[in-house]
Amino acid sequence: MICIINLDHTVSLVLKKLMQEKQEMLSNIPSVDEFLKSPYGLQWLSSYPRKSVLKAVRMVLDEKRKEILSGLTPYVSMDILSSNIEKAIRRLSSYRLKPVINATGVVIHTNLGRSILSYKAIEHVITTARSYSNLEYEIAAGKRGKRYSNIKEIIKELTGAEDAVVVNNNAAAVLICLDTFAKGKEVIVSRGELVEIGGSFRIPEVMKASGAILREVGTTNKTHLHDYENALCGSTAMLLKVHQSNYRVIGFTEEVAIEKLAAIGKEYRIPVAADLGSGCMIDLKRYGVQGEPTVQEVVKTGADIVTFSGDKLLGGPQAGIIIGKEKFIQKIQKNPLLRALRIDKMTLASLEATFMQYLDEEKALSEIPTLRMMTEPVEVIKKRAGRIFRALKDISAKADLSIVPDESQAGGGSLPEINFPTFAVTIKPNNISVNELEKRLRLGEPAVIARIKDNALLIDARTVQEREIKELEFCVRTALTEPFFLN
Ligand SMILES: *Cc1c(COP(=O)(O)O)cnc(C)c1O
Repeated sequence: MICIINLDHTVSLVLKKLMQEKQEMLSNIPSVDEFLKSPYGLQWLSSYPRKSVLKAVRMVLDEKRKEILSGLTPYVSMDILSSNIEKAIRRLSSYRLKPVINATGVVIHTNLGRSILSYKAIEHVITTARSYSNLEYEIAAGKRGKRYSNIKEIIKELTGAEDAVVVNNNAAAVLICLDTFAKGKEVIVSRGELVEIGGSFRIPEVMKASGAILREVGTTNKTHLHDYENALCGSTAMLLKVHQSNYRVIGFTEEVAIEKLAAIGKEYRIPVAADLGSGCMIDLKRYGVQGEPTVQEVVKTGADIVTFSGDKLLGGPQAGIIIGKEKFIQKIQKNPLLRALRIDKMTLASLEATFMQYLDEEKALSEIPTLRMMTEPVEVIKKRAGRIFRALKDISAKADLSIVPDESQAGGGSLPEINFPTFAVTIKPNNISVNELEKRLRLGEPAVIARIKDNALLIDARTVQEREIKELEFCVRTALTEPFFLN
């Protein structure tokens, strides 16, 4: 009995001592106010927003207090605390949307922002953003103008279409076409073209959202001209041909060419629309891209309306371009939905600049980043891989490096079956796993997004920009250095 009481007494003494220790550690942590008045605090307040400084100080101090209360006994020095706080302040006061280095080789990487803009496009955005402009003003007449009239001439000239209008993206372009011509009526589409682009753009669902009724014809692999003809009825409002974009049906297949659809459309006086998806303006056959019709070719087929994206193969900003016969484009311009889908002036500026670059095809190929990356000769990519390799050569104690041939993709749902020969630098780290290296690069500043293949990290030189090589080198060095501080 006595023994037990003594033990209890000892335990309570120990607990009391622990509590005292915790209290002591807690009281050693400076208060928010003390921090703000310290030289650290004064310096932060002079270079960062007060809100971010306060939030960061509170956050880090709270964290430390919780650690202490939960029994962890961190070594709390002013230096460690302030370095943690400084990192938190930087995180809180920096942009969430930030540049990343695309080392995946996927040129039109939808998750990484699709196309990067050309210098001319960027310049035109800056000029337009910092001044008032004739966005909706006819300077010669001194009166109100249309938002789309500045850009439509260049689009008409380059594509050969009678008229043009632009909206926020190609999904919006398809939506407004269906809404304008086919609300409550039938739209005939081949079963082989009921595509899902990703990010929930699915032809049947866009159709539903617009109030048009989908009339599927043919089968997955074969659709004949008579399938369309047999489906025509009093409530047919449109024949729609959708580019298969991100998949191909191969083998025993048949589809109806747009020319033939355009001919039936003309005969029965029903508009024929082609959703091209990517909207390639330059014939890429000499770069190994077969079977991708250009926008100009599709316009020549006699299709009434053609829609395509601004930021896929065109290489411009996110936008949806609608071109075609004047009477149809005019009708779209009268749809009140256009106001909701209207394009912003900065997008208009970069789109205009991008289109203007197509006046000289050779220059377009070298100056529009998406086109340049897509058509760059493999020897040029190999040289860039060599430069990345040499920049990293002296890390050989930490990782094995090599240059290997590989294949890269167009991405963005474009040209799915085509692999473009490329060169990549492979990195096999010695002290950490390749997965850890991938993660560290991803969490670095700037983030480097790379692929893992055959237990090595692959830096595809196709999508790494020349100006990024120095930063890339820094990121790889940091990631391979121990200890690695993530935050
Ligand atoms: C990509 C694509 C779309 C959607 O275009 P966004 O510009 O991404 O809105 C629609 N249709 C097809 C066939 C496509 O390839």
